[in-house]
Amino acid sequence: MSAKTVADASRFAILPALFAVFVAARILSRGSSIDHWLPEWWTFSILGTLMMLERFYAYKYAVSQRPLLARDILSTLINVFVTGAVTGMIVFPVLAFFTEHFLGRKLVFASSGQLGPFWVQVAAILVGVSFFRYWMHRLQHKNEFLWKLHSYHHAVTDLQASNTFVSNPIDFALRNVLVFVALGLIGFNPLAILIAIPAVQVYGIFSHCGGDVRGGWLNYLFVTPEVHRWHHSAVVPEGHKYSVNYGVEFSFWDVVFGTYYLPLKDGQRQQPERLGHPGGMADESNYLKLLLVPLGLYGIVPWLRRRLWIASDPEGPQPAE
Ligand SMILES: [Zn+2]
Ligand SMILES: [Zn+2]
Repeated sequence: MSAKTVADASRFAILPALFAVFVAARILSRGSSIDHWLPEWWTFSILGTLMMLERFYAYKYAVSQRPLLARDILSTLINVFVTGAVTGMIVFPVLAFFTEHFLGRKLVFASSGQLGPFWVQVAAILVGVSFFRYWMHRLQHKNEFLWKLHSYHHAVTDLQASNTFVSNPIDFALRNVLVFVALGLIGFNPLAILIAIPAVQVYGIFSHCGGDVRGGWLNYLFVTPEVHRWHHSAVVPEGHKYSVNYGVEFSFWDVVFGTYYLPLKDGQRQQPERLGHPGGMADESNYLKLLLVPLGLYGIVPWLRRRLWIASDPEGPQPAE
């Protein structure tokens, strides 16, 4: 077997292999001391690994994202450490109150045995979470306000691990946090949650690997980088309205609901030549704009700057010489 054959085969094997490793590591490490010392260490170890894959399996249409690194880092830190916690604090009490008063406490805080056999619960979480995220993501493309929030994620000009978490925190929370908060209320078996949730969380990050890694037949099941690149295509494929491949972790929802797109030409899987916002919006390097413009709050920044300037310099700005 030649070295080239091995390298080509590894393009297909690398994601499933890493998936198994990371899910196992996540399940085994839950609640261990490393989780306390380095919260979200596994998210960052996946991102780091994907960045290495990007160097190893160079992609022919890769576009440099280096000038946007500060924006990428800030957005990642906020969405990983702040968005989930804040959403949980706001949404959990509201959901708990609503369900307790309108649906009856028993229904919601069901004992885990009532929800069926263990593996049925694992499957129900996988199906339920991915189904919710698929439809939420579709809505985020269709609804004008939600699209305004989501469009910053689509302005990136390449899929790279570094821009996985680039998105307005409200956009991120609707797709990636809300359903997990709700799960906590339903009362699934904690072990079922422990097994099912890492699988969807780990997988969600893989789709943004910028390397030339392949999915093979797994493309029909998982949102591989090959599949997700078409979701980011600057040109929406013909016959589709807003985008294609809305799945966050499983692409079979796209197959079921007619939004799956991964064309073949001469037996070869095609990839879009250009990624970016379909309306031509430029990639936003200023994180504050990404955060505040869609909410109509960006005006506060120049105002604040003026106030701070006046406060620090009583004579005000000096004319240029
Ligand atoms: Zn999208
Ligand atoms: Zn994406």
